[in-house]
Amino acid sequence: MKNSGRCPKCDCTDIVADAKVIDRGHMHVKDDMTLAVYADPGAIFFQGERTTKVSAWVCTECGYVEFYAAYPKRIKLPKS
Ligand SMILES: [Zn+2]
Repeated sequence: MKNSGRCPKCDCTDIVADAKVIDRGHMHVKDDMTLAVYADPGAIFFQGERTTKVSAWVCTECGYVEFYAAYPKRIKLPKS
């Protein structure tokens, strides 16, 4: 949907791009939704957190939503 500009469910081409998904963080402060992966999720310290913000593409006809990571390579862990 991001690249095609077309809804895969209903074929509509009226798509809202790059909508921010509001999340609530520390002290209930608004922030954009974030994805996180951990290189070592079992570690108590230094879990190796990698994050990226997430944006949504929304079909204005049927409401279908697709999420995209802003920086997908940032959360790619090296193969062990
Ligand atoms: Zn649609």
